[in-house]
Amino acid sequence: MQTGDGLLARLRIKGGRISPAQLARIAALAAEHGNGLIEITARGNLQVRGLTPASAAPFARATDALVKIERGLVVETPPLAGDDPTEIDDPRPLAASIRAAATLLSARLGPKVTVIVDGNGRLNLTALKADIRLTAIGSSQWACSVGGRSDVILRNDALMITLRHLRQIADLGLAARATDLAGSAATPHRTRSISPIGILPLRDTTATGIALPFGSSDHAALTALADAATHHGITEFRLAPHHGLLAIGAPPAFAAEAAALGFVTASDDPRIRISACIGSDGCASGHIPARVVAARLAPYLAPETSLHVSGCTKGCAHPRRADVTLVGQPDGYGLVISGMAGDTPQALLRADQLESAAAHRQG
Ligand code: SF4
Repeated sequence: MQTGDGLLARLRIKGGRISPAQLARIAALAAEHGNGLIEITARGNLQVRGLTPASAAPFARATDALVKIERGLVVETPPLAGDDPTEIDDPRPLAASIRAAATLLSARLGPKVTVIVDGNGRLNLTALKADIRLTAIGSSQWACSVGGRSDVILRNDALMITLRHLRQIADLGLAARATDLAGSAATPHRTRSISPIGILPLRDTTATGIALPFGSSDHAALTALADAATHHGITEFRLAPHHGLLAIGAPPAFAAEAAALGFVTASDDPRIRISACIGSDGCASGHIPARVVAARLAPYLAPETSLHVSGCTKGCAHPRRADVTLVGQPDGYGLVISGMAGDTPQALLRADQLESAAAHRQG
């Protein structure tokens, strides 16, 4: 994808599983072929920024040789699927069946069409949007939600029903989504946020969840994190929603090292409630260095308040409402309360007024 700071590559890594050595190598490739910034998105995908038309192909070849990349229909499962003792059912076999059965269909579906297959455990995917959502609710019962409609179905019928809905979407053309199906109504999206930060018990071990501050890290910090993981005998990370990275079987000392490297390791870290794009530090459209501003304001952010610092009105980092949105403008910072970056600001602030705007409790 073309963005304001060059080409962006989003990597759908199979199962979201990546070793410390692979993570370090991707960090090195991001520095060699891109601008050295690596992101984990709100959906838990890895992104590399600042590629050029000349560097994108060698980057793609190198990553293809390094990790298994998923192609075709997007079928997502929670990052701890199969290992989470709280999940009602292991969603992976059903997800694999849907992926395999939809192979021929995927060319007729738009690239954003997404199926979520959720075992309904602690780190479930409730907060993520999907065209078709299958959620385990009992030993053989699943909820199937399509374009705003929800039905209880039998586990054994889930594959057939999902394929039928996918065919219906495909028949409407490449731009179609589930909300275009007859009888569908877009319902307000549930936004219950489930933090991946902290120690998560698994069936056989634990996972230590950390997050990239504002969803982004430079290659040096990520390489240092991978080195620390290797030092502690960690062999696997899993990419997680909400910009998370789960270190499987990590000892307590790992979280302390990750914190020292600048990663988010505490669930009460205010940076979890802040979204910020690269802004003028890497995007031609940016009027302010949004992440630098966000880091400065984090200690002042009022409790339970969400903040979006956006380099411009496009609002890439958080295309939704936030309690407080600060939007870079040529002559200052637009202040939007309970709105989006593209909304008309209620006030234009100077740099020295930002701390008090962040500290003002909303709602
Ligand atoms: S919101 Fe940020 S990343 Fe998006 S175009 Fe504006 S400055 Fe660039």
